[in-house]
Amino acid sequence: MALKIIESCVNCFACEPLCPSKAIYEAKPHFLIDPKKCTECEGDYSVPQCASICPIEGAILDAFGAALNPPGSLTGIPPEKMAEAMAELQSH
Ligand code: SF4
Ligand code: SF4
Repeated sequence: MALKIIESCVNCFACEPLCPSKAIYEAKPHFLIDPKKCTECEGDYSVPQCASICPIEGAILDAFGAALNPPGSLTGIPPEKMAEAMAELQSH
């Protein structure tokens, strides 16, 4: 099983040095995880180190496509409140 970095990654470089498997590498247009190397940190850490430091919600997905840091998990703003706020901003 391996995690995946997707296009919302902002190339902040935070995750790459933390990976115990050296599975994360700089690429264009964003960092990537080598699925052959990623162990999901099993045996090294209790939680995936990349996802635990990543500041961007939804940038890292599990093998099933679910976000490790889903919407609202880092900002503390419930997704429905965020949607309301965005709609309010766009109406002006
Ligand atoms: S889950 Fe762990 S092993 Fe996999 S890329 Fe992230 S830090 Fe590396
Ligand atoms: S920590 Fe997140 S945003 Fe930063 S480089 Fe890694 S995946 Fe991209």
